[in-house]
Amino acid sequence: MANSLNTQSTTHKANNDSLIGTYDGGLERDEEDRKSDLAGGDKGRILDLQLRGQAWNLNMFDVGRPLGKGKFGRVYMARTRTQPPFVVALKCLYKTELVEARVEKQLRREIEIQANLRHPNILRLYGFFYDGKRIFLMIEFAGKGELYKQLNKLGRFSDKRSSRYIAQMADALLYLHSKHVIHRDIKPENLLLGINGELKIGDFGWSVHAPGNRRTTLCGTLDYLPPEMIEGREHTAAVDLWSLGVLAYEFLVGGPPFEESGHSATYRRISRVDYSIPSHVSPEAQDLISKLLVHEPEQRLSLEKVQNHPWILKYKKSSRSTGVV
Ligand code: AMP
Repeated sequence: MANSLNTQSTTHKANNDSLIGTYDGGLERDEEDRKSDLAGGDKGRILDLQLRGQAWNLNMFDVGRPLGKGKFGRVYMARTRTQPPFVVALKCLYKTELVEARVEKQLRREIEIQANLRHPNILRLYGFFYDGKRIFLMIEFAGKGELYKQLNKLGRFSDKRSSRYIAQMADALLYLHSKHVIHRDIKPENLLLGINGELKIGDFGWSVHAPGNRRTTLCGTLDYLPPEMIEGREHTAAVDLWSLGVLAYEFLVGGPPFEESGHSATYRRISRVDYSIPSHVSPEAQDLISKLLVHEPEQRLSLEKVQNHPWILKYKKSSRSTGVV
């Protein structure tokens, strides 16, 4: 039987469930830890007004095992009590913490962007709801978890696996760019894996709708930032092409191409496009990386050309499949 969730007393009974796993009491523990906090207050209520719709509530879910803990709260595997039931990742965010970190606007943007996207390699945001203190996001469950954990475990990915991941990224980015969304924060930590091993872009915290050129604001990990962003120049969707090149490099080599201990050293290397590719990387992969890691944004290989690059075509499956294995 699924665990029960009594929102009257806000206690969840720990229970065993073979599909969604065992709830660990984390939501109540967080509640205890935050007893001394302000309860969101007026600023929290402003968030409510900014987020539309409230068809769901916590009572409509069986909460299962914890999937992870992010900066602003926990993520649980959960199943709707609807018929038929539906499994989601339920992300719980604390309003006070969002307000304190001044990320309300960023969250709003993330929700607005992600809720409107439909692509097999982009994590769906099905909906959201809130109570007095928390905001819950109903996100597509990524069955195989975080990509960077796999990368850490294996050290680096094979030529074939890397090529298939990059093909899926190119598909997803082409879709995003067609919707005038620039991701701007592509890195292994923001990528999850679906149940068939397919890649899922999972974090839209730094995405922007791009009506045209924008002045840059520094964000994201320095390792993945293109020259135009660290140099404070205007940037376009071509920032994602650069990051795709960095990602391909990291998949194949196990670390990013411009990594240095200090920021200014990384900055210098990015600006000079100063990197080298180890000889174990296939010539086709080297060719693609060198066509993406190009200083001038307009000269980077387009996503359509990435999709048709020999390194991508080499491992392309005959039938349409987004999986890796
Ligand atoms: P986040 O707050 O988004 O960084 O999420 C914290 C952790 O929860 C992540 O590092 C993942 O391990 C896990 N997680 C987040 N979203 C999902 C999801 N949709 N499916 C599976 N696991 C997730």
